[in-house]
Amino acid sequence: MNDWDPFWPVEPGPDAPWACAPNSRAAPLRPAVFIDKDGTLVHNVAFNVDPAKLSFLPGALDALRQLQAQGFALLVVTNQSGLAQGLFTRAQFARLQAALEARLAVEAGVRLLGLEVCPHAPGPSGAPRCLCRKPAPGMLQRAACRHGLDLARSWMVGDILDDVEAGHRAGCRSILLDSGGETVWRRSPMREPDAVCEGWSGVTAHIEQHQAERADTGRALHARPRSAPVHACAATR
Ligand SMILES: [Mg+2]
Ligand SMILES: [Zn+2]
Repeated sequence: MNDWDPFWPVEPGPDAPWACAPNSRAAPLRPAVFIDKDGTLVHNVAFNVDPAKLSFLPGALDALRQLQAQGFALLVVTNQSGLAQGLFTRAQFARLQAALEARLAVEAGVRLLGLEVCPHAPGPSGAPRCLCRKPAPGMLQRAACRHGLDLARSWMVGDILDDVEAGHRAGCRSILLDSGGETVWRRSPMREPDAVCEGWSGVTAHIEQHQAERADTGRALHARPRSAPVHACAATR
């Protein structure tokens, strides 16, 4: 069954299609960690907009603090079909967002660079009908355009394979934080996580290890002797 593919017809909505202006700020693009909200950052309470019911997953605050210290921009990307279904209003969700941001600041010293919401409902088969509902990559792409983010150096962390797929479709690496949210396990190459972690400490350890390996590769390239032929084929002419 074709659950979703990139050529699935989409309905034009208020947030799509969006245009990405060229990076005119001359500032280098930043790497980011995109974080799913429900079941990843906070415990999943279906269609919750009550700030009193926000509770962070174990280790989430420490992890975000560490990632921020390493220079990653932190953004939340969340499907909220309850908006399309009329279960809560944008104002109610905005209050929840403000409470979430305030708690991150006070309890962890963490500042979110952004929070992207897909307010649309999926189609009858569960496939997105917009460009932003995960597993579509629109929220990540939109955030990258808004904030000047380097998607190729960025990560998506989420508790289901739709998060993994959204990250990969945006050109990021994707980590599945397996907190029990995924129950269907529909697999495809786009939905294969780069790492599966049972908790937030595993997420930060994996990203740190990857960063260290990248740095080693960079040093090895720069350490190449100046006398070595750069293009071996040119010397045989
Ligand atoms: Mg989730
Ligand atoms: Zn959407």
